Amino acid sequence: MTTKLLASSKSLRPLRGLRILAALSLLAASWQSARAQQTPAPAAAPAPNPAPNPANVEVHVLHVQGNVYMLVGAGGNITMQVGTDGVLLVDTGLPGTSDKVLAAIHSVTDEPIRYIIDTHVHPDHTGGNEALAKAGNTITGGNVVGDIGVSAGNQAAILAFQTVLDRMSAPTGQKAPTPQGAWPTETYTTPERKLFFNGEAVQVIHIPDAHTDGDSIVFFHRSDVISTGDIFITTHYPIVDMSRGGNIQGIIAGLNRIIELATPGPTDEGGTLIVPGHGRLCDQSDVVFYQEMVTIIRDRIQDMINKGMTLEQVKAARPTQDYDPRYGATTGIWTTDMFVEAVYKSLTKKD
Ligand SMILES: [Zn+2]
Repeated sequence: MTTKLLASSKSLRPLRGLRILAALSLLAASWQSARAQQTPAPAAAPAPNPAPNPANVEVHVLHVQGNVYMLVGAGGNITMQVGTDGVLLVDTGLPGTSDKVLAAIHSVTDEPIRYIIDTHVHPDHTGGNEALAKAGNTITGGNVVGDIGVSAGNQAAILAFQTVLDRMSAPTGQKAPTPQGAWPTETYTTPERKLFFNGEAVQVIHIPDAHTDGDSIVFFHRSDVISTGDIFITTHYPIVDMSRGGNIQGIIAGLNRIIELATPGPTDEGGTLIVPGHGRLCDQSDVVFYQEMVTIIRDRIQDMINKGMTLEQVKAARPTQDYDPRYGATTGIWTTDMFVEAVYKSLTKKD
């Protein structure tokens, strides 16, 4: 069993370069779409970065291990847990991709979608909420709700940290930013929420003030898989959405929590597998490398702040230089300058 899992994990490695390329372009597309949605331009102005045509999206399924699969291509990565209780999804991809996501799910199972967990509010992770929650009722043609305490009616339950609902439902002007059908039907405000689904413990853990102020990571205990949302991505420096309560210190705390939960396999390969918010399938050692990189950069910028350097001086000193070939960007949705600025502001923020 161990050998087989290890082998399947190792066999993924040669594809990493391809996955990174694919994930980068998808991340760019999804953030352009997300931004277009969150800050609508005046009606006459064309969208600066048009969303990808959902018709051109391809969604691929990868068996991770145990009951858990990874769906790639619909925006943020989607994690799927499958069993006789039905389908549980972590995140739902971009709006307009749900037909493709459903087709990918159906390539694995005909069980209905019964549970959706949102790792955070961004539309590249929640855009399929409404369509996929509704599909949860229609796959078998009957009411599949019943015994999981859903109060929302004939659809799959959507669980998220409370601030995800607050941000989706808070009126801006006359109407809420997100249609009601996409809102979480269950929220939690405690440090964690535990479910038992498809024969395994599913631990939903809140990471405070990290990528946003409503982040959850999801640990499938028996399958030994962690789905991280955008606390951990392999495609860029960590994205800190300070306008939605994000902070670099919370990201580092979240990475530490993932490392603590995960168990490395023999020779540090395999073991607990990690589905990042964007990018390729990882294991604990990948998260350790990323955490060290983020911590080193955070500490360098803190030292510069302690010396009284301004943001412009810190940017000019290039505190990320040695990591830029791997994670840096001068254009696109999350440039190195944006990251340095977010770290600087996280560390100088006065509560
Ligand atoms: Zn995000």
